[in-house]
Amino acid sequence: SETRQIRSDAKSKAAFERAKRSIPGGVNSPVRAFKSVGLTPVVIERGHGSRITDIDGQSYIDYVLSWGPLIAGHAHPEVVEAIKRTAEKGTSFGAPTELETEMAELVCARVPSIEVVRMVNSGTEATMSAIRLARGYTGRSRILKFEGSYHGHADSLLIKAGSGVATLGLPDSPGVPESIASHTITVPYNDLASVKLAFERYGEEIAAVIVEPVAGNMGVVPPLPGFLQGLRDVTKQYDSLLIFDEVMTGFRVHLNCAQGLYGITPDLTCLGKVIGGGLPVGAYGGRRELMERMAPVGPIYQAGTLSGNPLAMSAGLATLKLLDESAYQRLERLAMRLQAGLASNAAEYGIAMTINRVGSMVCPFLTDKQVINFETAKQSNTERFRTLFGRMLDQGVNLPPSQFEGWFLSTAHSEDDIDETIAAHRTALGKF
Ligand code: PMP
Repeated sequence: SETRQIRSDAKSKAAFERAKRSIPGGVNSPVRAFKSVGLTPVVIERGHGSRITDIDGQSYIDYVLSWGPLIAGHAHPEVVEAIKRTAEKGTSFGAPTELETEMAELVCARVPSIEVVRMVNSGTEATMSAIRLARGYTGRSRILKFEGSYHGHADSLLIKAGSGVATLGLPDSPGVPESIASHTITVPYNDLASVKLAFERYGEEIAAVIVEPVAGNMGVVPPLPGFLQGLRDVTKQYDSLLIFDEVMTGFRVHLNCAQGLYGITPDLTCLGKVIGGGLPVGAYGGRRELMERMAPVGPIYQAGTLSGNPLAMSAGLATLKLLDESAYQRLERLAMRLQAGLASNAAEYGIAMTINRVGSMVCPFLTDKQVINFETAKQSNTERFRTLFGRMLDQGVNLPPSQFEGWFLSTAHSEDDIDETIAAHRTALGKF
């Protein structure tokens, strides 16, 4: 494919300047500002299927997909129709609706660890609530998380975090009191020996281990064989809870989420992204005995004005209903095709590249070293990534604007989209 001669960004530039006057940094979530790639963000006008169009009228094959939720692509007709039908009947009641039960039943049926599930409005709320439940249930304060993992921006979890804070070099944020941060223990991902050491020292004080069963906020880092089982064993031994943060992996890597893929059952599971089909949603669930410690049955408190919102339930249900075995087979085929093409480009031009992939989460790290945790992810050539990102954008491919984020595929991507992406990548690499 040809490199576009000029990508015009006049309208995006003007719109971003305007946004910066009334929004901090011009964005409502930091990574959107393209700060680490040194470009003006593309301001979006609309999306359809695998593509988005910016306000300058250019179209891009999209591998961001709203950072994961849009597994069926942008504006899927069935999702749009479900939202419209529901909107006509009112958008929020603050009272029970049957849509919430339908969503809960579907989640309970598909997610092995979940007998009872509570809906919230974001992944951040899901993990924050699960941590509160774990602390309330065990009567313990400490939690253990992994370096380079991101679980949303709650105080306890914004310690050595991944995603945007890793990209911007702010893994420990000002504003989190030391008295709160001191309850969070961090160890390297995939390092069971360090987890065991932490338990030998603090085991009786650890309420929970929270883990992304496939790490997706330091690029994509799959669990090494035995890692998740090891976490299951050690938490059981010390009566701590195991929390799978499946906000990203839930219904993304498998019909039964990462826990179904790897056959490990956590005590609590956090969901978000895909189950909202592009509307604001999160959820946390687990065994009845645990979940019924939450108010109104039990004393641990958590609530939400818009929780279980009808529009969000409708978009999520419509999306989940599109996800059968064949949808995951299609995603796997497309992602394998992409991985093979990128690998072949790297080999052709002698570019150091290690591609980690689990299903439709793909991350080509610009290093020839194996990537198993945040330390090894950081060996990537981020300077080269910046250049690659810009060259891909100029050729009509929208990648996540950081080496430490995964690329997502949707069922709306076609073989032609993948081949066009591989060709653009080949052109981009050929100029290094
Ligand atoms: N957990 C994980 C694993 C995530 O990837 C994210 C968001 N990328 C979150 C939690 C936070 O979700 P939200 O942005 O909806 O608050």
